[in-house]
Amino acid sequence: MDRTLAADLARLPDLLDATRRAAADALSTLDARPVVPSRVRPDAPESLSSPPPLPEHGTGTEAALAAFRERWEPRLSASAGPRYLGFVTGGATPAALAGDWLTAAHDQNSNSALDGAGQDLERETIGWLRELFHLSADHSGTFVSGATMSNTTGLAIAREWLGERLGVCPAEDGAGALGPARVLSGAPHSSIAKALSVLGLGRNSLVKVPTLPGREAVDPAALDRALADTPGPAVVVANAGTVNTADYDDLQAVAALRARHDFWLHTDAAFGAFAALSPDHAHLAKGLDASDSLCIDLHKWLNVPYDSAVQFTRRPDLQARVFQNSAAYLGPLGDHPDLVHLTPENSHRLRALAAWFTLRAYGRHGHREIVERDIACARALGEQLSREPALRLLAPVHLNVVCFTLAADPTPARLTALREAVAAEVFVTPTVHEGTPALRAAFSNWRTTQADAHRVARALRTAAREIA
Ligand SMILES: *Cc1c(COP(=O)(O)O)cnc(C)c1O
Repeated sequence: MDRTLAADLARLPDLLDATRRAAADALSTLDARPVVPSRVRPDAPESLSSPPPLPEHGTGTEAALAAFRERWEPRLSASAGPRYLGFVTGGATPAALAGDWLTAAHDQNSNSALDGAGQDLERETIGWLRELFHLSADHSGTFVSGATMSNTTGLAIAREWLGERLGVCPAEDGAGALGPARVLSGAPHSSIAKALSVLGLGRNSLVKVPTLPGREAVDPAALDRALADTPGPAVVVANAGTVNTADYDDLQAVAALRARHDFWLHTDAAFGAFAALSPDHAHLAKGLDASDSLCIDLHKWLNVPYDSAVQFTRRPDLQARVFQNSAAYLGPLGDHPDLVHLTPENSHRLRALAAWFTLRAYGRHGHREIVERDIACARALGEQLSREPALRLLAPVHLNVVCFTLAADPTPARLTALREAVAAEVFVTPTVHEGTPALRAAFSNWRTTQADAHRVARALRTAAREIA
């Protein structure tokens, strides 16, 4: 054994302890650190433009830890903290973090039933998630790395369903066997187009359906007409929680169109599914269960570390047809195929463990509290920004996202100046909403409190007045 490696093995418990201390330090200063450090620190010991060469001989974990803390840690954002409101970014609950550490410690490859405990743990966790989101037992689920992969997997099953309807098998004969496909959606996330590119259906198969006036929710009457104009079976992507304004399609109205049209219903509920945890907001997610395939992210509002999401479907048979990792002549896969036959991945970490830990530790009530507190924070921010003459809200706060812009002359350059002025206090991301350059703040971290919402509001109002 390499001498450094052998020395590390001999002191493994000490090294883990040192790592634990470093993690505890980082987490205890989350609140005090700038949310986004200035990109290139003038005092950085080595600049990114001259990376050190690969060491011929290493100096062990302790020295690597010291180098990381000196050179890289100061450049990392406080994205695990309470005022990182860009994209839709969750944190990691204490239990989720513990589960994630143990995932690496046990280093399981839960892809095969030959070593079944990992798969059983995944299935138990999927069962809990089904309960959390009020899904019926008709939905089977699998873990994937994120909502993009969940959407891709769901749309791959949709592609196979189109094949079933048309009497062909895209999994065997390729997407070309289908002819042109039509995928209809009101305000789809960018990952939908990416998935269609990956799946060989093509980005141009995406047909944008008009949304309701002033909303990002699809107009059900327009969808009805678009489906009537579509020759043959189609795919509808319903959106439950859009990133700009957290708007929801009327999922029940969309599902009801199946009485008149032949389509596969995929729902992108990456963070929107979590409305189901809050009795005051559960109506938004009503109808999720009617989806044929459903995307829910876990590294967002469940607050497990990256990377984790789940894919639910009512047609695991089609899913296995697409993703089976063995030749068809090996025979049927049975009712509970190995996970290796259900997603694009083969080997994968025991990703379910972090989700299992946080659900076991805090239960439905604990996670409901996080969701409701984040929504209340978004409301508070929205209210305070709406009273600021230098700023303008672009949509009501439906859930956990606040979409706003400068009241006067909201150019991208001025919005960048605003973002940079507040970067130490809060991170928000730019967008364009109905043609207007804007910023959005999304609340999905378990640490965020009303005090943070007020602090963010103060920073944004002050900076906006200075720019105005
Ligand atoms: C975040 C998000 C995605 C993509 O999620 P990743 O986990 O980043 O792949 C897709 N759809 C919606 C609605 C999202 O919010």
